[in-house]
Amino acid sequence: MLHRLRGLLGPDLAIDLGTANTLISVAGEGLVLNEPSVVAVEEGTHQIVAGGCAVGRLAKQMQGRTPGSVTVIRPLREGVITDFELCEAMLRYFIRKVRRHGWGLKPRALVAVPGCITPVEKRAVYNSAHRAGARQVLLMTEAKAAAIGVGLPVGEPVASMICDIGGGTTEVAVLSMSDVVAAESVRVGGDALDRAIVDYLRRNYSLRIGLTMAEKIRIEIGSAYPLEAELVDEVRGVDSISGLPRKATITSEEVREALGDPLARIIETIKSVLDRCSPDLAADLVDNGLVLAGGGALTRGIDRFVTEQTGLPARVADDALSAVAKGTLICLEHLGQWRKTLESSDDDV
Ligand code: ADP
Ligand code: MG
Repeated sequence: MLHRLRGLLGPDLAIDLGTANTLISVAGEGLVLNEPSVVAVEEGTHQIVAGGCAVGRLAKQMQGRTPGSVTVIRPLREGVITDFELCEAMLRYFIRKVRRHGWGLKPRALVAVPGCITPVEKRAVYNSAHRAGARQVLLMTEAKAAAIGVGLPVGEPVASMICDIGGGTTEVAVLSMSDVVAAESVRVGGDALDRAIVDYLRRNYSLRIGLTMAEKIRIEIGSAYPLEAELVDEVRGVDSISGLPRKATITSEEVREALGDPLARIIETIKSVLDRCSPDLAADLVDNGLVLAGGGALTRGIDRFVTEQTGLPARVADDALSAVAKGTLICLEHLGQWRKTLESSDDDV
């Protein structure tokens, strides 16, 4: 009976609205959408190209390769919505795409957001999700979602630590008894690592490269800790003196040097969260360590690097890229248990 009523109300959606990727799950079904958070529009307008279909994967393919009349835009930066209208359009497109069976009513949506989000930015998430078709919008922090998603015992009176390295931000949190004890978020993630590679090549090789090329180099040969067999990669860009396209060869040691500063900022954030924990919680972490999630956790050697720099055993989650999505879905499917810890768009009206 309850199930049928639920069905009439439309399904519940769990949304990981990330700077780099958006993942949507349906309660009772699982993950149904995983696409880049990207939109391609007519230059200077909010008109989505390809008949409104240049959203997600298709738009990402266009990145860096569009004619002057088309711009590829990411509606989120550093974890928060920077282009309100496009974020709403993107969400509406994604929600419609997963709306296969023509639900009766509008869905309820649980959205994961960064811990450092301001009230104004929160409002933007509520409004975007509402206007994209959600009936009620609930929010939870990405760090908590990731901790639940990777299977940490967050409900127990023991410290669990998570570090989620996304495209725009890194979220670090210590949780105990279903609540966040200490958390911090820093605006460093894959994008900052890519910018560091762009800067390095400009300074040391007089070579201008795009962010798409920088990300490719980072994924192919990037590392946080010396590799057993160091790697090399070919870079293509534009010579900043002659203005002509040319190639260069870059080694994994060089990329590691380039990534040094942003990686150090992630370590500082982890240390700062540890600093705010009570001695008892910190003692738990000496044994339990911390779990790394988010796409940035796939950087080679990041677990060894974090272990060496913090003294805590660090391990990479099995499903790093979908940890937040998994956590939001678990929360949604056990809403009775979690509801009181979530914020809702209905709370402050
Ligand atoms: P967000 O939650 O901000 O959308 P994600 O957790 O989806 O971010 O992670 C996206 C980031 O992960 C991107 O910066 C991407 O470059 C990076 N990434 C994805 N795969 C890898 C990989 N194999 N190695 C290193 N970085 C990766
Ligand atoms: Mg994320």
